[in-house]
Amino acid sequence: MEYYSTNKQSQPVSLQEAVLRGLAPDKGLYMPQHIGTLPKAFFNNIAQMSLQEISYAVASTLFGEDIESDVLKEIVYDTLNFDIPLRHISGDRYCLELFHGPTLAFKDVGARFMARLLSYFNKIENGGNRQVNVLVATSGDTGSAVANGFLGVPGIHVYVLYPQGKVSKIQEAQFTTLGQNITALEVNGTFDDCQALVKNAFIDNELNEAMMLTSANSINVARFLPQSFYYFYAYAQLAQREQDTNNIVVAVPSGNFGNLAAGLIAKRMGLPIKRFIAANNRNCVFFDYLRTGNYEPRPSIATIANAMDVGNPSNFARIINLYGNSHQAICNEIGGCTYSDEQIGETINNVFTADDYLLDPHGAVAYRALTEMLQPGEIGVALETAHPAKFKGTVEKIINKEVEIPERLQKFMQGTKETVKINSGFHSFKQFLLQSIQ
Ligand SMILES: *Cc1c(COP(=O)(O)O)cnc(C)c1O
Repeated sequence: MEYYSTNKQSQPVSLQEAVLRGLAPDKGLYMPQHIGTLPKAFFNNIAQMSLQEISYAVASTLFGEDIESDVLKEIVYDTLNFDIPLRHISGDRYCLELFHGPTLAFKDVGARFMARLLSYFNKIENGGNRQVNVLVATSGDTGSAVANGFLGVPGIHVYVLYPQGKVSKIQEAQFTTLGQNITALEVNGTFDDCQALVKNAFIDNELNEAMMLTSANSINVARFLPQSFYYFYAYAQLAQREQDTNNIVVAVPSGNFGNLAAGLIAKRMGLPIKRFIAANNRNCVFFDYLRTGNYEPRPSIATIANAMDVGNPSNFARIINLYGNSHQAICNEIGGCTYSDEQIGETINNVFTADDYLLDPHGAVAYRALTEMLQPGEIGVALETAHPAKFKGTVEKIINKEVEIPERLQKFMQGTKETVKINSGFHSFKQFLLQSIQ
């Protein structure tokens, strides 16, 4: 199957090319030309299927034409070697816990899938003889998920760019202490500066001739599309417990909108989700777009849900493409909201006190959306995108109680931080990359 660019100024390409390139030459994002649907029999059986079985069925529909089935099955099963349980919280509200992977954030799903697929395609394309350089800008969790997903994968080097002083200590430890094929670049700037550096690298001719570059941000289809798997698994778990699954609402804590865009793909594939809520912190360009029809990117502002501090969400292009640029069509299926740090804290505290459940600041944004926006008869699922211990300091201040760090996280804290400091100008970043391959 072919993938087109959302800017429609470059040629459609194969999945292999889309994954190796990341961004299209016209700076657009790749999208599947055609989105297949799953048969009725699949949905009749889904409640009895495992996460891996469901994901493989979805993956076959998305990628079946382009990857041999046994390879695809191995990639899917290996990627999802952890559970994604749905927890009932209160009333008609559930949380889908996406934080049981190696770095305790939902990005493990996309990053692990992409590492395996990229390695496979690189072997086909170059016989594994050419190094692929993965550039990834992170506001916190992407860096750790991508770095850990790719750690030790032969033929691949990862450069993680992050805004100095703007990610938590635990997050930082997860991608600055790994060594091997992972280099962490500490940028004197914001997350948007990091993202701009990466985007500029992909369109710089000299760099692209000197080295093979690709992106592991959610602009890469191999990270973005696998995130649709767990929407089906959430539905499967609801089908086991609820009589009526026709009124499911999913609230997605959104930053770059890759997660939400993947949910919209799942819906296109036939998953009966009634509507979505794009839950924002104070960075609310999407919410404003829903209200006004105008999309006006602006610099991001720092919040306690820092992985969502994005002022110009890259997957916005995918969302408007899915709806043929119709603001009305988008508003029919997606609602929005925006919450302050104070409201996020209040939600964490309330749910901890009333329901004995500890939300992280990102999941709290989505959960609050359910408490305010769910209609009678609807069932709400909030995506819990990270383990609360990843934001230990913030969460402890809110609930006034110590938060235990799971052993998996503690291990990262014992490593030694190693970074390269750069400023936010493109020239110095480019020189660094060119030198590093010599
Ligand atoms: C990245 C991230 C988000 C935002 O996801 P997008 O796909 O960029 O919208 C939300 N929560 C956490 C914990 C994250 O790491």
